[in-house]
Amino acid sequence: MKLTGNLIIGAEDVPATEGTMKALNPAINQLIDPDFALGGAAQVHQAATLADEAFDSYSHTSLAERAAFLESIAANLEAVREPLAARAALETGLPAVQLEGEVTRAATQFRQFAEVVRRGRFLQLAIDPAQPDRQPRPRTDHRLQKIAIGPVAIFGASNFPISYSVAGGDTASALAAGATVILKAHNAHPGASEIQARAIRKAVQQHGLHDGVFSMVRGSGNTIGEALVDHPLIKAVTFTGSEHGGMALYRRAQLRPDPIPVFTEMTSINPTFILPAALAERGAQIGDGFSERMLVNVGQACLRPALLVAIKGAGVEALREAMAKRVAEAPARTMLTPGIHGSYLNGLAAMENAGARRIVQGSPAHADVDGQSALLEVDGQRFLSEAVLAQEVFGPSALLVTVEDEDQLLAVARSLKGQLSAAVHLEESDLPLAQRLLPVLERRTGRIVVNAFAHPQEVTYATVHGGPFPATSDSRFTSVGMTSIDRFLRPVAYQGFPDALLPEALRESNPLQLVRLVDGQ
Ligand code: NAP
Repeated sequence: MKLTGNLIIGAEDVPATEGTMKALNPAINQLIDPDFALGGAAQVHQAATLADEAFDSYSHTSLAERAAFLESIAANLEAVREPLAARAALETGLPAVQLEGEVTRAATQFRQFAEVVRRGRFLQLAIDPAQPDRQPRPRTDHRLQKIAIGPVAIFGASNFPISYSVAGGDTASALAAGATVILKAHNAHPGASEIQARAIRKAVQQHGLHDGVFSMVRGSGNTIGEALVDHPLIKAVTFTGSEHGGMALYRRAQLRPDPIPVFTEMTSINPTFILPAALAERGAQIGDGFSERMLVNVGQACLRPALLVAIKGAGVEALREAMAKRVAEAPARTMLTPGIHGSYLNGLAAMENAGARRIVQGSPAHADVDGQSALLEVDGQRFLSEAVLAQEVFGPSALLVTVEDEDQLLAVARSLKGQLSAAVHLEESDLPLAQRLLPVLERRTGRIVVNAFAHPQEVTYATVHGGPFPATSDSRFTSVGMTSIDRFLRPVAYQGFPDALLPEALRESNPLQLVRLVDGQ
């Protein structure tokens, strides 16, 4: 598939205005063709102006029309499955077969959101009819629906270059809400980004939508991201990446004359607690499962379990041995970027400086950006006294914390900051301790898993991929799952409207046959 390297701004292919960059093949540390255009504030302005012009017509597309558009994006992605996965593999070092799975996931998300749109429940329709005879005052007719928040900026993630990137869940849910989208491509996979952007643009054209429904920009350094967050026509931002980057953008948005919501997904160590009976009965099995999940995607996954807490005693040895075996056998594999690899090494060094012991490591690295897996251990007392041990080290490593007793296990849980997920392994006789642990975890996580590990592939109505800070900047929302659409919606009430002027979904005859809350019922 021929790549032009241009920015995709509406229907226009925009060449470089601020120089060019090449993609890096991290596996062999070599730059690969072609040159990719870098833009600046002027290109952000061009895309934002178009997105604003497109907003009124796109946000008023019928539910059927919008759903069909999302399905066309899914089909267009599937039509480029092989070249897209192949290019993404070159740019990330991830296996092509895994990336083909990401294409399926991305296409599935667009189809799932098409169904969400058709069902119309996201509109959260509510009708409180007039009560002219109500005492002491009559009530006028009030009707509520949710509408799209406006044009939005989406920062593509580096670690899942398709399903969390240009054609990821953020884009699918924003377009489903009726928002127009400007995507900030991640520079770690510019070619894969271009292929996805073209698939989306093709669907825009197939459905005769306004060109400004979707654009993709790219730039060097922080300028382009800052210009997006600052632009007065942008009304919300989503971001997946580092806490440092996410918080810089969040703070920036709050300093605008008109502050806007910034939904960041940043950091999580996904703690796993093994309660005593489960440890004694199946310590080895849990250790094996934990290590397998921790190594997925070379540890570069938001739901990767990175902290394991167990009470010293029966089963700890078997747990440690099983984990050590998996970790020792794990080949060093290419990490996404030299920057992420460097942060991984620094993170491990910081943990060791804080008193964690490296008890085993995987086979040695052959190339500069190979991530060598590592298992570290520390006792509960030390963990509680060194905040750095609870920081995310993004890569194929984990920390085993052995605690003295139940109280120390609970103290470790209480010491944790906000997380995307937590897992608890238990048997029947562990229930009293689990009941004490549960409220501690509920306050700190978006998802609690029993006798398993958080599964990243599930995208459902009940999925929560969020949590208190620093897992995200807004614990009220999820960035994955069908309710992630709520980030891009706001309520509008229509009071005393003649029926003909009401949005179709709120008209008296309910012409779209949607579920509506009428007088609270
Ligand atoms: P990142 O450095 O935070 O960058 C993410 C995106 O935001 C990039 O497009 C970047 O643009 C942009 N950006 C970052 N800081 C910015 C700022 N101050 N102003 C404007 N734009 C800004 O994340 P990354 O490159 O993907 O990975 C770095 C680290 O992030 C990892 O080591 C890991 O710790 C964390 N991470 C976490 C997750 C997770 O799911 N929890 C996922 C991915 C990464 P430029 O590239 O152009 O600078």
